[in-house]
Amino acid sequence: MRSVKITSVAVAPLFGASPKGGWSSEIKPEDSVHALVAVHTDAGVTGHGSVFTDGRLVQAAMEVLRPLLVGENALEPERVSEKLHQNSFWMGRGGTLTHAISGIDIALWDVLGKVTNQPVGRLLGGTYRRRVQPYCSLLMDEPALMAQTLHAMRAKGFRAFKIGWGPFGRAADAKLDEAIVRAAREAVGPDAKLLVDAGASDAYWPHGLKWALRTAEMLKDYGVGWFEEALRPDAIDDYCELRRASPVPIAAGEVLTRRQAFLPWLVRGALDIVQPDVTKVGGISEQRRIAWLADEFGVRYVGHGWNTAIGLAADLQLAAAMPLTDLVEFIGGSPYLDGILTEPFILDSDGYLPIPASPGLGVELDREKLAQYTPNPAILFAD
Ligand SMILES: [Mg+2]
Repeated sequence: MRSVKITSVAVAPLFGASPKGGWSSEIKPEDSVHALVAVHTDAGVTGHGSVFTDGRLVQAAMEVLRPLLVGENALEPERVSEKLHQNSFWMGRGGTLTHAISGIDIALWDVLGKVTNQPVGRLLGGTYRRRVQPYCSLLMDEPALMAQTLHAMRAKGFRAFKIGWGPFGRAADAKLDEAIVRAAREAVGPDAKLLVDAGASDAYWPHGLKWALRTAEMLKDYGVGWFEEALRPDAIDDYCELRRASPVPIAAGEVLTRRQAFLPWLVRGALDIVQPDVTKVGGISEQRRIAWLADEFGVRYVGHGWNTAIGLAADLQLAAAMPLTDLVEFIGGSPYLDGILTEPFILDSDGYLPIPASPGLGVELDREKLAQYTPNPAILFAD
């Protein structure tokens, strides 16, 4: 098969059931922060992708990108995505268009896998693992509530957890911060992984390097696996200092897009763990390049994935294809993760997720379930 042509591309924003974002400006039911993308082909094969941004932006971006896309060879994800990047640089590279290209790129890898009958992980060069540990991502809360939420998620089988922002740091009360982390560690038990995210890319983060250093010292006492977004997202100098001084590994990168933006962070040694988001940076093609670039610098890659089931499916395939990626992010209690596939993700007895070995991303969207979250799910399917 020399060529499978792209015939159309469709966008379905997800509404009404976004989990609480915990941001200064909270997500409302009428807001969409995720959109699903479908790339249809003349072979009758459809690929699916996911974009983390407002669905209206994805729809507008698609109007701009469609003429560059329709008629292209659907079996060449990296070349086609690069064509979109190269021809849209003047319209705000790194922003909405890059986010939207992520969804197209993921969908094209899905098409390539389905047409060649191979899982995406193998097409990326080979698979290092068949399962990966998901860490359950949860908003922080007052200590008693935090413990309750974590107990419930541990009972569901998770053995790795990330708790983020809410009152942490915002109340300017170091005792409260520590009480939350202590309650979390007690709730998950000494054997579980516990990660902490300050969420400093939210509006008007009030703290700087000294707060981050003091807090990192506190987190060490609770066996925290990494300290994420402890500083504002552009504070690269402070990140460099923090990484050198912190007893806890330092993670960030979820708001960066494009491989080029990650380069100074790696060259300057600002991070222990880099967290590009496959649904923002430019898709699987771009994420793979960032992940391997990080590997050359001895920096660990664990994708950011505040995400949909399709985004998680892409993260799983990337985790399969990277030698040292042992975690994927899994938002606790999001119907966009748990409620839109024909066969939902199921944790094994160790709290790991099997990486789908069927063609493409290896997951299937459920049209009826999707109808609860998007007005016109039919546009995501071929017939
Ligand atoms: Mg984060």
